[in-house]
Amino acid sequence: MSEAGSIGGDGWYSSAHRLPSPNFEARPGGIEPTLIVIHNISLPPDEFGGGAITEFFQNRLDHSAHPYYDRLRGMRVSSHFVIRRDGAVEQYVSCNERAWHAGLSSFFGRERCNDFSVGIELEGSDSSAFEAAQYASLNDVVRATMQRYPIDALAGHSDIAPDRKTDPGPHFEWLRLQNGCELPLQYFPYLAKA
Ligand SMILES: [Zn+2]
Repeated sequence: MSEAGSIGGDGWYSSAHRLPSPNFEARPGGIEPTLIVIHNISLPPDEFGGGAITEFFQNRLDHSAHPYYDRLRGMRVSSHFVIRRDGAVEQYVSCNERAWHAGLSSFFGRERCNDFSVGIELEGSDSSAFEAAQYASLNDVVRATMQRYPIDALAGHSDIAPDRKTDPGPHFEWLRLQNGCELPLQYFPYLAKA
């Protein structure tokens, strides 16, 4: 678990472990984020714990350490946040900057979602439930993000890149997030649509 915190003017969350990634750039035109994108990630796939996610986001993954890592060679990615299985929050990129989590994507026709979103990765997979501690920390991070930025929607990676991505997957409980953050359904346009 981690304590609820706030996001400062520098875009860093007070309750996160800061693990800066070099994989970011300025948001074009200095626009503020209006979208939160929820993901899942585990490295190796379906294995939790260990340092591979951090190493991957910091471009220092040992690609010979696991057969799956071979396909990650040369990839430069990051996310603003990673929420570990025990609820610990890690931050890799200031929310003021553009992290590289969404890739080719479209939010109701608006492309390049990285330009205008904050990315939150839950350590997990499409084949297992997330932990209560992760939902608790996710609520805190979402609330803090919404206090700092004019967020008006939350979506899954699979919503904005449906041909390529399946995360956060069938085990992610959108209504649990909605209730936990006490947000009207209008903040979840893909949920409202379904
Ligand atoms: Zn994703």
